[in-house]
Formats: sequence, C-alpha cells, structure tokens
Amino acid sequence: MRLRHLPLLLCLLLPITRAHAAETPAEHAANAYAAQELAAAPTHGNLPDYALSPEDLAKSHHLSRIHVTLHFVDEVWGILSLVLLLALGIVAWMRDTAVKASANRWAQGFLFLLLYLIVDTLLGLPISLYEQHLSRVYGLSVQSWPSWIGDEAKAFGLAWIIGGLLVMLLFWVIRKFPKRWWLVFWGFSIPITLFGVFAVPYLSPIFNKFEPLQLHHPELVAQLEQVVAKGHMDIPPDRMFLMKASEKVTTINAYVTGFGASKRVVVWDTSLTKGTPDEILFIFGHESGHYVLGHIVIGILFSIVVMFITLFLGYRFVQWAIARFGVSWRIPGQTDWAAFAVLMLSFSLFSLVLEPVNNGFSRHDEHAADVYGQEAIHGLVADPQTTVKNAFDVLGQSGYDDPNPNRFYEFWAFSHPSIGRRAAFGKAYNPWTPGMEPKYFKK
Ligand SMILES: [Zn+2]
Repeated sequence: MRLRHLPLLLCLLLPITRAHAAETPAEHAANAYAAQELAAAPTHGNLPDYALSPEDLAKSHHLSRIHVTLHFVDEVWGILSLVLLLALGIVAWMRDTAVKASANRWAQGFLFLLLYLIVDTLLGLPISLYEQHLSRVYGLSVQSWPSWIGDEAKAFGLAWIIGGLLVMLLFWVIRKFPKRWWLVFWGFSIPITLFGVFAVPYLSPIFNKFEPLQLHHPELVAQLEQVVAKGHMDIPPDRMFLMKASEKVTTINAYVTGFGASKRVVVWDTSLTKGTPDEILFIFGHESGHYVLGHIVIGILFSIVVMFITLFLGYRFVQWAIARFGVSWRIPGQTDWAAFAVLMLSFSLFSLVLEPVNNGFSRHDEHAADVYGQEAIHGLVADPQTTVKNAFDVLGQSGYDDPNPNRFYEFWAFSHPSIGRRAAFGKAYNPWTPGMEPKYFKK
C-alpha cells in the first residue's frame, strides 16, 4: 500500500518512521558532518571499510539504480496522476457518485475516500508489484504473493478507516472555519499525532507477529539490560519485543517505537540469526540512543512544525487552485469533497520539497544514535570499533547496500548515513583514547 496521495497520514506517522536503526535497501544516507567527525577521529587498525564480494557488488549496483529511478518516477507519477485525475474530471465523478449514493455526510465522505483510494492504489500498483517482485528475485523478501496481497489489503482497510475519520474532521473544520480551517485543523492534528504515535505499536501486530524477547532469548535480555543500566533508562524486559520478520524478509532491523506507556524496543528475529551477540548489543545500543536522546519527542515536535507549514501552504494552494481551475475541474469550492484531492496535490508537492529536509534531520539523529550506541557498548564488548564495523557489514550485506551510492540521491532520499560512512566512522571512532572525550558517557 503506497498511500501516495495521503501524505497527511504519512505526516502524522512521520515520528515513528524516523526512528529506524537498520534500513531497507532503499533508505540509507550520508552527511557532511559525519565525514568531518570522521576526519577528526583517530584511525584504528587496518580493517577494510564496508565492502561486498564482486557478485554482491553487481547486485547492489543494479538494485541501487532501480531504486533511484523508481523513487523519483513514483514521486513524479504521484503528482502527475493526481493532476490528470482532477483535469479529466475523475475526482468530480467520485464526488458525484458519493453524493448521489446517499444524503448522509458520513456515507458520502467514506464512499468518496474509498473511490479515491481504489484509484490511487491501482495507479501505484505497477510500481508496488515490481518492487516486491525485485525483492523476491534478490532474496530480500521471502513473502508469498497471497501474503503480500493480504498485507496490502489490510493497509488499505486501515487507510480507509483512519483516513475516513480524518476526512470527516477536516471537512467539518473547513465548513465551520472557512478562513482559519488550516489553523484549527493543525490544532486538532497535535493530539491526533500524539495518539497516532502512541497507537502504532498496537496496530503493528496486524502485519507481524511480536513476542516478548525474554521468552526466546533471556540471555540476550540480560545483556541488553546492561546497556539499559548504563543509559539510566527505564526499559524493563517486558518492553523488549522480538518481531518474526523472518516469515517475510531476510533483511535485518531493530527500532524504538511508541510513546509514553506504549514505548518499546523491537528487534527483528533476522537480526539474531545474522548478527553475533556483540553486534546485536551495538544495534540495541543505537536504538536505546534514540530512546535516551529523545528522538521520538523531537520527531513529534518536528512533524507538528511541518504540519503547521504544510496546512497553511495547503490552504493557500486550495484557494488559488479552485479560483484558477475550479470550473474546468468541476470543483465549486473548498467545502466540496473533491477539494480533498486538491489539498492532497498540494501535500504531494510540499512533501517532495520537504523530503531532503526531513531526511537531513533523520540522518542527524541516526548519526547521534550511532555515536551513542558505540559509546554504550564500551566495556561490554571486547572491541567496540570492530564490533560496530562488522555490524554495519552484516547490515549492508543483508540488503545489498551500495558501498558508493549516488551523492545526490544520498542527500535527497537517505534517512540514514550510507552504510559505508557508518562503518568507516565506527571503525575510526574511539573516544577512550587519550585526548578525546566520549560525547554521552563519562570516561
Ligand atoms: Zn536509528
């Protein structure tokens, strides 16, 4: 489920998606400051930086080229197809169908959104299918097609229910506050965002199985608790979960999710089969870095600011577009259901522009979590530099990450520093050497 035209939902879910440690092949990043710190850091040993076998390197280059192309094709097509839907009167037809079907506003709103999501999904389907096909061919995914389709259907249902409630609220606000709806809706979006972040861990089991980490790996939990103690954190063992990712993918991952009482650490089971205990300790150290350094709260604040700007610009865009194209698009005013598509068009345009900004913030947090994680395992593993470097090797190799990704694409679309940069930094970073100070811990 791509939700290409529902960046509003994506905006609300932004803080959750930013807190990922490991990455999918499509998301990893580079940053200038990491390179600077790298240059300042002393070198350690003669370990080679992240490298792939010639065979895997060829695979990684092929995947990388396809991902870059698909990423931008998908974004541009998302915007272009929405313009076409408006210009060809298809959005007006959805509105007519919904209004004719019932006089009840709730029925109209949900039916309009259903038609909108169906068309949106069909338009994005070729790219979704190709990406899943590619993941299967390269062995990154082991999910059967029926299971994949089932996941898409569940995501569609969720988008319809949650999106439908948001659409009803949005149009109620637009009718009540014709000139200030962007501000009023922004006010509503704050508690909705907080609730969304809180609720995500309870929605995740719809897609994957979660079990207490303690149940399968009590020895690992005991080790992780050492990292927890060092950070003076409050993550009891019952907040640590094992996700059965191996039923669907071969890549590895771990992350912090939730908010307040729902906050938790999730480790994919694939990480445990591919990584050594020391490497898993580092991955967990990185995750607990997000926890200790308040990245979820920062992410929420960031998305609230983004929502403020996006809604204001969206309001202005809707006024302009309806005044300019309202007659030809058959959209009489902002209270018309079809105006939703105009607002989505503005969100698509802004989210395209905001992408490098958002990813720049994300890379900053990810690098900070890398530093924290490496410092946290000092004294717990024999050689933190080698452990970190090896962890990134495993991470990169499991997803065929490109050792030398396109620089522009890194800047634009990577939520994490590139795996090569992370490995090189980890290999070189040793703040316990004379003349250096750890950033987050006392020597
Ligand atoms: Zn992370």
